[in-house]
Amino acid sequence: MSDAVLTDAVLTDAVLPQGLASVFVGKPDEGCRIAVAKCDCDQEHFFPPRSYCPRCLEPMARKTVSGEGRIYAFTIVRRRAPFGLGEPYAIGYVDLAEVPLRVFGLFAPGSLTRLKVGAQVGLKVMPLGVDGEGKPCLRPAYEVVGEQHG
Ligand SMILES: [Zn+2]
Repeated sequence: MSDAVLTDAVLTDAVLPQGLASVFVGKPDEGCRIAVAKCDCDQEHFFPPRSYCPRCLEPMARKTVSGEGRIYAFTIVRRRAPFGLGEPYAIGYVDLAEVPLRVFGLFAPGSLTRLKVGAQVGLKVMPLGVDGEGKPCLRPAYEVVGEQHG
């Protein structure tokens, strides 16, 4: 598990690392939204959002969508974790519910034993690991939601 001890003060100051803050919108314990880009030329969505459409080269509209979706694929990584993440940690792909888009992400440590292809997930911002400077930070992570069957 993470050896970073988080005090209340540190938690209050913790923020999303800069690269994530431009793409994920959310506060701890709230649902996190994801910024995506969409072009009208073919209605295709992109994540991470890009400024220009690769097809028509026009500027693309940016919007945020819910992070809710279903697990398409996942893997539990048992090697040394980057960014102060606990070990093991899980990553994978989620098919978003609101737009036809498959996104790559990190799964919440508390969901590791409940990961299953097709399981419903929500996206939350939570204190998780450290940023590029080694400071405790917030990170978006997918949490398995709903009843556990089996
Ligand atoms: Zn386009």
